[in-house]
Amino acid sequence: MNAVNLLGFDLEGLAAFCEQLGEKRFRATQLFRWIHQKGAADFDQMSDLAKSLREKLRDKAHIAALPVISEHVSTDGTIKWLFDVGAGNAVEAVFIPEDDRGTLCVSSQAGCAVGCRFCSTGHQGFSRNLETWEILAQLWYAEHSLRLRTQSTERQITNVVMMGMGEPLQNYAALVPALKVMLDDHGYGLSRRRVTVSTSGVVPMIDRLRDDCPVALAVSLHAPNDPLRDQLVPLNKKYPIAELLDSCNRYLDKAPRDFITFEYCMLDGVNDSPEQAEELVALLRGKVSCKLNLIPFNPFPASGLKRSSRERVMAFAEVLIKAGLVTTVRKTRGDDIDAACGQLAGEVQDRTRAHERMVRAPVRVHRRGTVVPAKETSRP
Ligand code: SAH
Ligand code: SF4
Repeated sequence: MNAVNLLGFDLEGLAAFCEQLGEKRFRATQLFRWIHQKGAADFDQMSDLAKSLREKLRDKAHIAALPVISEHVSTDGTIKWLFDVGAGNAVEAVFIPEDDRGTLCVSSQAGCAVGCRFCSTGHQGFSRNLETWEILAQLWYAEHSLRLRTQSTERQITNVVMMGMGEPLQNYAALVPALKVMLDDHGYGLSRRRVTVSTSGVVPMIDRLRDDCPVALAVSLHAPNDPLRDQLVPLNKKYPIAELLDSCNRYLDKAPRDFITFEYCMLDGVNDSPEQAEELVALLRGKVSCKLNLIPFNPFPASGLKRSSRERVMAFAEVLIKAGLVTTVRKTRGDDIDAACGQLAGEVQDRTRAHERMVRAPVRVHRRGTVVPAKETSRP
């Protein structure tokens, strides 16, 4: 297999690659459209490219997706794919259909180094950064498999949120070209308002994103003060709340939306009291143009934490709304397939260590620690 995977190039990078092959730069646009808009993986399909170019491409490049370990379809239409990224690591992407949009939640790293207390990806530790092609392969596969599934040539994914596994702003170099492909009219043509980077608050990188590729920004806040946030999101010790909010205000100068979304995961008895809601109001009102998104905690055993009751979430939301902060409570989707926050991939990781068969997903784990589809192998 040839080394260069064309899924890893933004249009500029592909143009440079075409030049290296002795081709005109505009050929890159045709090639790019074949790959991302038509989902082609075979150069012979690309009928408007000269045969000589197709031969050169076959020689020097390939277009390869990530192996799919499993696909789970929820009764509510949510679809979760688990992709093999090698060496026993798996990442996930989740498609969430709604009446007026289709959102894909994409992973940026295998594991995560931030280590938030309430996050199962954080509990797994950090394995590695995904490469640009691995970030885009999730979108490429999801978009084109959804088109096949629905027998449609229409765009299926209208929104992308970088809210899968990993901290996207700790994988900045790979993230930005991937965002550019999502935004490019010759790629997925998504508007900047419909591509969201979610971050636990890597302040210098929020500033860089503002200059390099401003898209919608979601910031995982989860606490109204530094002592509590230090415990929940350890990165807060490095970039405390005041610095984080300053960077949000700088971001707003160039952001495609005139607000920042603050995510707040509701943890029973930890961050969900009416007093803490008041503290949050004092922190944010009049200081940053924002919307609040309250997320019901998705429990997992190792966290030792519990989801706030519906009543407590509603009481918390009411304080914020009465104070004039726009607040939504996130609907849980795909509960029957654990379509949230690294849970399925978490199982793969744990099982990898335990050398046991996975129960929920149709995969098994090799003695060397690699994850392989169950049907292709037998138990040792
Ligand atoms: N690393 C980035 C993006 C990935 S996490 C970030 O932290 O923002 C995406 C969102 O899911 C974040 O808001 C995160 O705090 C939240 N999250 C993580 N684990 C969760 C859980 N168990 N239940 C509910 N939300 C969770
Ligand atoms: Fe990493 Fe985000 Fe999970 Fe925190 S919530 S550990 S930053 S993926």
